Amino acid sequence: MGKAKAEEIAVTDIEYPILSEKFFASGDLLKRVGNLLRNGKVNQTLLLSGPPSVGKTTLAYIISAALECEKPTPFACGKCLSCRKIVKGIFPDLRYITLKESETGKMRTQIVIEQVREEILKAAELPPYEGKKLIFIIEPSEALNANCQNALLKILEEPPPYVQFILIAKEVSRLLPTVRSRCQEITLKELSFEETLKVAEKLGLKEAEKAAEASRGRIGLLINGEWKEYLALQEIIQNLLIFGSEIKYFIEVSSKIEELLDFPENLVLDETLYIIKEIVKEKNGVKSQIRLKKEFLDLVSKNRLYKQTKKCIEATEMLNRNVSVKLIYNYIYLGE
Ligand SMILES: [Zn+2]
Repeated sequence: MGKAKAEEIAVTDIEYPILSEKFFASGDLLKRVGNLLRNGKVNQTLLLSGPPSVGKTTLAYIISAALECEKPTPFACGKCLSCRKIVKGIFPDLRYITLKESETGKMRTQIVIEQVREEILKAAELPPYEGKKLIFIIEPSEALNANCQNALLKILEEPPPYVQFILIAKEVSRLLPTVRSRCQEITLKELSFEETLKVAEKLGLKEAEKAAEASRGRIGLLINGEWKEYLALQEIIQNLLIFGSEIKYFIEVSSKIEELLDFPENLVLDETLYIIKEIVKEKNGVKSQIRLKKEFLDLVSKNRLYKQTKKCIEATEMLNRNVSVKLIYNYIYLGE
């Protein structure tokens, strides 16, 4: 294959990481993936599952590049034309299928059947232009509704020999069992605190320990710097959990609730449950992994924390019923 012209490559600023060295995973995950690649054991229908920000998308690109690379070892070389095009997001045989805006300009919450027909089923009829494989990364694959998943069953069962599917899912339970059973599943997890700290140091983060605490194993947050927002959120939540029942802090607490409204609700609830767990741990004499306001922990009883846990769980249901978010936060954090 000839040398690429400069303008062919430099069309975008986004760089997709394709080198295994740029990937941080716990334990033997990378070794396992390397073995699958080396032995040609990557199933044509692959499912990468795991919580947010643990590297599922990055791994999808690493695997894709390895499958397309002209000289894989078994991971991508990063130098050949295919590799360079994948890094720049201009490789024609790597298709990223995701949520789109509707006609009204609002982001959809589902991948719709038209997309499945046009972007996957129809596209898969033709072999790759220049790659070894025609790869479809589908994320979030749980956004395929039952109708879409059913439409894909046949091709997932028996894909054309040149097709590779990589499904990415945070909530695998939303995939039909018939879909999931057709997939080779690789599950990614949050890293341990020690592993996270090592990565933070490797990345040269100044406040490595703080970053490791706030990100709690979600490596993506270290890489994109979002851990700072999480740290801020965790501090707000901790204040609310501890001081929410004290009438004398009412004004401060109310303004903290206003600040919470800037964050996605699911994230707030998720972090709240985590911090409750950490406070209870500390109260039981087990050292917590996050910085707690130890001198104030007596202000909040285990009984109150227990009630708040229950309220968080109820809150998900309340959100589904479109109860005002502020009302829900008042319910969780204020009063007894
Ligand atoms: Zn290469």
